[in-house]
Amino acid sequence: MKILKIDHIGIAINQIDESKLFWNDILGLDFEGTETVETQKVITHFFPVGESKVELLESTSPDGPIAKFIEKKGPGFHHIALRVENIEAAIEELKNRGVRLIDETPRDGADGARIAFLHPGATNGVLIELCERK
Ligand code: ZN
Repeated sequence: MKILKIDHIGIAINQIDESKLFWNDILGLDFEGTETVETQKVITHFFPVGESKVELLESTSPDGPIAKFIEKKGPGFHHIALRVENIEAAIEELKNRGVRLIDETPRDGADGARIAFLHPGATNGVLIELCERK
């Protein structure tokens, strides 16, 4: 598989206002915009950093995956997203090598990407997202 770069780093947050104060006002990163991904019960907030982005993840519902993550581990680092050239080929290769996946087929993510998550049990505890952009 061909990994092109770190596309973004996902960080779970409780609430955007205090986080925006840090990433935008204090660090001085541009705030690119917000997108709601209904299927994941999440609002994503993007802050470009060079060729990558910081993606802040805010839950829309107490039973969403981000709310559950925060309940268990607290806010903070959630996942790293690697941009791949061809997501189907990458998934196929990982499956063939016996790597456990959360998504066996790509789904639609925020920001026009097609994404798939690897299971953290297969990656020393790091949640890895593959993402392909046209
Ligand atoms: Zn992500």
